[in-house]
Amino acid sequence: MINFNVPPYAEKAMGYIQECVKNQKICGDGPYTKKCSEWIERKTGTAKCLLTTSCTHATELAALLLPDIGPGDEVIMPAYTFVSTADAFVLRGAVPVFVDIRPDTMNMDEKLIEEAVTERTKAIVPVHYAGVACEMDTIMDIAARHRLAVVEDAAQGIMATYKGKALGTIGDFGCFSFHETKNYSMGEGGALLIRDGRNVEEAEIIREKGTNRSKYYRGQIDKYTWINYGSSYLPSDMNAAYLYAQLEIAEEINDARLAIWKRYCDNLRILAQAGRIELPVVPEGCVHNGHMFYIKTKDIEERTALIDYLKKNEIHAVFHYVPLHTAPAGLKFGRFHGEDRYTTKESERLLRLPMYYGLELEQVDYICGKLREFYR
Ligand SMILES: *Cc1c(COP(=O)(O)O)cnc(C)c1O
Repeated sequence: MINFNVPPYAEKAMGYIQECVKNQKICGDGPYTKKCSEWIERKTGTAKCLLTTSCTHATELAALLLPDIGPGDEVIMPAYTFVSTADAFVLRGAVPVFVDIRPDTMNMDEKLIEEAVTERTKAIVPVHYAGVACEMDTIMDIAARHRLAVVEDAAQGIMATYKGKALGTIGDFGCFSFHETKNYSMGEGGALLIRDGRNVEEAEIIREKGTNRSKYYRGQIDKYTWINYGSSYLPSDMNAAYLYAQLEIAEEINDARLAIWKRYCDNLRILAQAGRIELPVVPEGCVHNGHMFYIKTKDIEERTALIDYLKKNEIHAVFHYVPLHTAPAGLKFGRFHGEDRYTTKESERLLRLPMYYGLELEQVDYICGKLREFYR
């Protein structure tokens, strides 16, 4: 069976984890957490990176940092996304206002955002689907004119850029995921990227149960105390050790994923040219990270038949995102602004093919051969 995903692993991880255990440094904010955060700060150029227990928690932390977001406030986001994008704001009592996506990138259509803005709107949450950037210039311009915060859901976007800027560093806050299905992993984990240094102290306090323990650890104060509301968003240093081994070979992992992505494209171009399937689109100015390889079939029936066909040939292909506005919680907490022209229709045609660090190019050729066979 060719799996859909295999969690990324770098050789040195085992030694690093043993070091944590031997040195009895297993709680949060240890040496490996520091190494990971500093690596991300260097690589992306963000003012501050805080490692978190998940991207979901990074987004929650961002929501807690936005000035007085509360019941009845609105947050604009796509409905074609993972539930966490909405959850973080629903927990604050805010209403997710969903706008339609662009069919080419599956990202929120930047041209539909402004008309969804009301006097209750507090933030825009672009999701960089498949590590391909949203149209951030337009989004940042709308945000500036209406004084809205921007929280980038860059769960899939580490190592990708928009006009030379790292995803996650353009909005006020950016959120990465290190779940095992992402390009770099710590099992469960994530990171909050903070653009403006002035937000760092409050973020550290909320992440550490509302205390100023981070300052205490750095020796800046001699005891710590309860300062604000907060929660516990810091991961164990063992998880960070697992991640750090991958960050050390980040370019190698990224290159391998891009080679797989390109091999799929080269192999499937003939089917796309014949109008049988559609291939992903990467707009000018966007450099992606090979997070995902998907195709689009004619419709949901064809997709179901193709998944079955691939399964019979030992290939595991999957689809995702029941659009949030059609899910029970989406109906309860959110609303869709405007017309659902593409969100539902395109989500029903999208199929993700196996993609992971370690997938062999010969396996990609085999998968593509089976796809061509299906369409013969
Ligand atoms: C994976 C993912 C998340 C959630 O990440 P976790 O680290 O599992 O919390 C959020 N948003 C998007 C778009 C994702 O792909």
